[in-house]
Amino acid sequence: PLKKRTFSGIQPSGDIHLGNYLGAIRNWVRTQTEYDNIYCIVDLHAITLPIDPQELHQNIRRLAAIYLACGLDTRYCKLFVQSHVRQHAEASWILGCFTPMGWLNRMTQFKAKAGENQETVGAGIYMYPVLMACDILLYQTHLVPVGEDQRQHLELTRDLAQRFNHLYQQEVFTIPEPLIREVGARIMSLTDPTQKMSKTNPNPNSRINLLDDPKTIKQKIARATTDSLRLIRFDPERPGINNLLTIYEALTERSRQEIEAEFEGKGYGELKARLTEVVVATLEPIQRRYQEYMRDPAELEAILRAGADAVRPIAEATLQRMKDVIGL
Ligand code: ADP
Repeated sequence: PLKKRTFSGIQPSGDIHLGNYLGAIRNWVRTQTEYDNIYCIVDLHAITLPIDPQELHQNIRRLAAIYLACGLDTRYCKLFVQSHVRQHAEASWILGCFTPMGWLNRMTQFKAKAGENQETVGAGIYMYPVLMACDILLYQTHLVPVGEDQRQHLELTRDLAQRFNHLYQQEVFTIPEPLIREVGARIMSLTDPTQKMSKTNPNPNSRINLLDDPKTIKQKIARATTDSLRLIRFDPERPGINNLLTIYEALTERSRQEIEAEFEGKGYGELKARLTEVVVATLEPIQRRYQEYMRDPAELEAILRAGADAVRPIAEATLQRMKDVIGL
């Protein structure tokens, strides 16, 4: 039987953090032998907010090395850079013409990212969900493994696909399903645990980056927001301590009861020390492999070229069907 297809991606817009790892990459690695996987570095998404050209260029290579260092294996996954496959941009214009403005107006991420600047931000940030829908739909994707923050964009993708299929009475697009794991799907900022951990948060202490050294990790966890209750319990009403415990849970894969028992009668200092150890131990082998991949840029380049060459015909076939049914 044919394997189901997965598609997902990460923006090369800054440092890759523990939220990206626990909400996305780690899950991709775990299920990679089960599915037919396509994982993308979504550079066209990264230009929706201002970014320095050299930084963007470097980030793309770094993210490729991170994917590989985290354990994505080119035997099971096609890895590529979005802008290497022109069909994404072309499909996105077409699908944009079939996207009601009202649907985009309802996207909460646009409001969050544009903030007060809705009159001055580039229109790309508004069209972002349409490009994301095309990324997924071009590959006839069945499953999209992402973190909780992408749920609304996935709903929009499904709605757009269903609407287009219905309009032309043809199955142009496969309707994708989100694949969101319960544990690790929403890691919060260390400094403001009511916000999600994000690459674009201006406060570097808000996130643990996959490439942070042990000393930095220790400092960031030490500074993480807690509360004055001094009781170590999973409790959504106490977002700071809840987030530290959630990260610990995701990394140790132990039950909540076991974790609460471990810290019974102990203080936040002990929780933070244990969490630091576990984070450092998880990231150490990833960082070692990352350095190895970064030492061979030609090899990275070759992997990304091969990935783009392998996926381009799939994207082209879908784009051609879109154009055919529309009459282009
Ligand atoms: P960011 O918001 O950091 O720029 P992206 O938009 O590039 O991240 O998202 C890449 C992947 O990482 C997506 O699957 C997203 O759902 C996941 N992700 C991002 N932030 C978090 C988080 N704080 N917790 C869990 N998953 C996250």
